[in-house]
Amino acid sequence: MPTYEYRCNECGTQFEKMLRFSEADRIPACPECASANTQKQLSKVISFGAASSGSLNTSGSSCGSRAGFS
Ligand SMILES: [Zn+2]
Repeated sequence: MPTYEYRCNECGTQFEKMLRFSEADRIPACPECASANTQKQLSKVISFGAASSGSLNTSGSSCGSRAGFS
């Protein structure tokens, strides 16, 4: 589940919210002042693609060397 970072335009509070993809378009209210005047922060992207791509590279290299050996 992706985590999005939001910032409240009213009080400046930054908070993170885990949302399902179906809920990604929703704007959560600020946990401090309950204002709906919040915006999604795009600067910080917590991607799970980095971890999966690393494991993909590892399995790919070992598979390649094994094929070359035989
Ligand atoms: Zn706020």
